[in-house]
Amino acid sequence: MMKIFKTQRALKEHLSSIEEELVVGFAPTMGSLHEGHLSLIRESKKRCDIVVCSIFVNPTQFNVVSDFENYPKDYFEDIELLKSAGCDVLFLPNDVDEVYKNEKKVSLDLGNIINVLEGEHRPGHFDGVMRVVKLLFDIVQPDKAFFGLKDFQQFLVIQKMAKVLNMEIEVLGCDIVREENGLAMSSRNKRLSNTELKNALVLQKALNHCKNNFGKMGLQDLQAECFGILQKESEPEYFEICDAESLSPITEVSEPQKIRAFTATSIGEIRLIDNMEIV
Ligand code: AMP
Repeated sequence: MMKIFKTQRALKEHLSSIEEELVVGFAPTMGSLHEGHLSLIRESKKRCDIVVCSIFVNPTQFNVVSDFENYPKDYFEDIELLKSAGCDVLFLPNDVDEVYKNEKKVSLDLGNIINVLEGEHRPGHFDGVMRVVKLLFDIVQPDKAFFGLKDFQQFLVIQKMAKVLNMEIEVLGCDIVREENGLAMSSRNKRLSNTELKNALVLQKALNHCKNNFGKMGLQDLQAECFGILQKESEPEYFEICDAESLSPITEVSEPQKIRAFTATSIGEIRLIDNMEIV
């Protein structure tokens, strides 16, 4: 039976009754769950004894108010999905204050990785993400935390935050779950019309083009071609080819180096992000 807690206090009380040697896994979410989220729960189930999930639409990470207001919130279905995936504990706070009320703010400088890509295009976004994840980590105190590589930069930011704050939490990244046609699953896809859903395939098209042509042409030309592909069906913000650790755009390829491509583009009103391992 999955237990649901609405207050920090009740959740902490329950978690403190769990035996020390049991491994607690945690996956924070903003609800409107799909297979991408459930893959985190399943991975946590494989590696941990107790699986904790949270559903909280965090206002401080939205830099556009309408995006926050329109964020889908259908928790009834979410609860059923979590039960079926084997989640043991759900933290479902009723309001924002329930999460933020005891916040002790820390200022963190994680360097380049929070200033590029999403950090550059969504000012304040990662400050909000770090605030809420730190609060949730302090409440849940998990041994392992599971994040999707769909938000690759967020995964790196949280991994670094946990390290800098000496939190004893292993931050693990889980593969991107895609629809059969390649579209990365996202709660925002629910807001796309049928035509927009077709147009959204352009992200996958651009990323595949990058992977298939990497090394066969100059990097700037390749980046421009991928941006051009995005422009045909959407309004791109960026298409960047970056070092997968520092997230700095690469200017030349040196061995050994892991490289990933990152993109953000809008289909109508909806802003989508995706990324792909290139080498
Ligand atoms: P969100 O509810 O969008 O904040 O996402 C909660 C967690 O689910 C984050 O760690 C995301 O990276 C992860 N996630 C969302 N979509 C996917 C996906 N398509 N594949 C894998 N992980 C995902």
